[in-house]
Amino acid sequence: MAIRGGTLILMLCLIVAVNAQDIGTDNSTNYDAAAKDFGGIISVKPLAFLAPLKSDDLARIVRSAYDSDNLTVAARGNGHSTNGQAMAKGGLVIAMRSVESGHFRLVKANGSAYYADVPGGALWEDVLDWCLGQGLSPRSMTDYLALTVGGTLSNAGVGGHTFRYGPHTSNVVGLEVITGKGEQVVCSEKENMELFFGALSGLGQFGIITRARILLQPAPEYVRWIRLVYAEFDEFTQDAESLITAPEGQSFNYIEGTAVVNSDDPINGWPSVPLHPNQTFNSTLIPKSAGPMLYFLEVALHYKNNDSRTAIDATVDVLLRRLRYVDGLEFQADVSYRDFLLRVKQEEQEARVQGAWYKPHPWLNIFLSRTDIAKFDQAVFKTVLKDGIGGRLLVYPVLRHKFDDRTSLVLPEAEIFYIVSILRLGLPIPNEPSVESMIAQNKEIIKVCEDNAFDYKLYLWNYETQEEWKTHFGKKWGIFAGRKMIFDPKAILSPGQNIFTRV
Ligand code: FAD
Repeated sequence: MAIRGGTLILMLCLIVAVNAQDIGTDNSTNYDAAAKDFGGIISVKPLAFLAPLKSDDLARIVRSAYDSDNLTVAARGNGHSTNGQAMAKGGLVIAMRSVESGHFRLVKANGSAYYADVPGGALWEDVLDWCLGQGLSPRSMTDYLALTVGGTLSNAGVGGHTFRYGPHTSNVVGLEVITGKGEQVVCSEKENMELFFGALSGLGQFGIITRARILLQPAPEYVRWIRLVYAEFDEFTQDAESLITAPEGQSFNYIEGTAVVNSDDPINGWPSVPLHPNQTFNSTLIPKSAGPMLYFLEVALHYKNNDSRTAIDATVDVLLRRLRYVDGLEFQADVSYRDFLLRVKQEEQEARVQGAWYKPHPWLNIFLSRTDIAKFDQAVFKTVLKDGIGGRLLVYPVLRHKFDDRTSLVLPEAEIFYIVSILRLGLPIPNEPSVESMIAQNKEIIKVCEDNAFDYKLYLWNYETQEEWKTHFGKKWGIFAGRKMIFDPKAILSPGQNIFTRV
């Protein structure tokens, strides 16, 4: 490796700067953590794992890599990728959580709108807590919040609020980015817009996001959290679609859906549906016509402490009356807004205790048009996955127009498409398959989509060749490759995505 004068010294100083702060999936501060991620499938060793404290230092590191013959740089958010996307073989991995850590700022603009200015390496759970301290909240949240702001903005950041407010990338109005040439650039819709829209869902290819300005709204204090069980997939999807297309005020604030096995398996079957240990699932209510899978809508209504519970009950009654879930198979709980948003953290803690958190996680996420979802249910949920996956099988619709087409994200053509997430958490499944067979199952599912010419795009996937990426990006490939030439011409950034090769 050839590194130009002075650079090596700078880098060694920064290696020493790897500090005592918790870095990485398992709070590890050591070099090995940079060769691991949540997926636990791919491991490549970097040259160094660096933890700069300031964005100026990070810019200097990128400039040093730019001046070197062969160094690459991977920003590592919280390492929750599943296919080595935040790794850099023989390159520099940056612990983003150390950069500008804790530097949060509230900004009021245009008279009434509030924004949080936060570091790109901040965890969403810390952003949420800081905002709640001001009585505010980001509008759109992912299911799980131990992800970094820069990590989700580089992908999309989807969840149960996406149908209303779009993904994270639709709720950010400005970024500070360090390009692949080491330049620090402020960008927004009005200023350096090519870089702004390129970096959003840009898979880390155009720059490292060091700060983001996130749109906020007044925070609710509580939510009525509800699960509604369906035996028929078409009734489940029709109700889900009618809820996501209803005007604000005539629907829930949060809408997702899940498929579970129609069995008494405690992990994969209907015992996993109730929200509280004192709720029981009366399986005699499942219609005889039900197939191998059941489905539940997961919805929530936000409210304030001083809202009357009678009024909340009445609103919920009106909304539920028009839905066709199985009578008697509905589960409700009132929880704080914060506990609701952090509910997956609870599942994480249980998975850690059981050791499942540390197992490999071959995940598959698909955006699939509504026109193909019924066929997918038959061919995949009811066939390939009918024994469950030892984790969560999410399936819920969102609206395409809530995503900004100017970002780097590619989507199906349809206005309504489903987010299908096959989240293998490593929990027990009958006839526990090997990791290889789970990976093969994922490929089989992608083949189902291909063979049926479904209108779909993979999300958070890691193609292995540029040809496959070109096909994935389709019409957007020209813009994507053009932006790469401008902002990272030597292909230094995010090598773990396997899109471009270091020049
Ligand atoms: P990393 O995995 O560290 O990095 C991901 C990619 O982004 C890498 O290419 C990296 O180089 C790049 N990157 C990281 N930080 C920056 C930065 N500051 N600037 C530029 N590039 C950067 N996704 C959803 O949309 N919705 C969910 O509900 C959801 N839930 C999840 C739950 C769990 C338990 C897990 C493990 C993942 C979940 N994800 C979800 C996926 C998650 O959004 C992605 O894996 C995301 O990339 C992880 O964020 P991270 O901060 O750990 O990023």
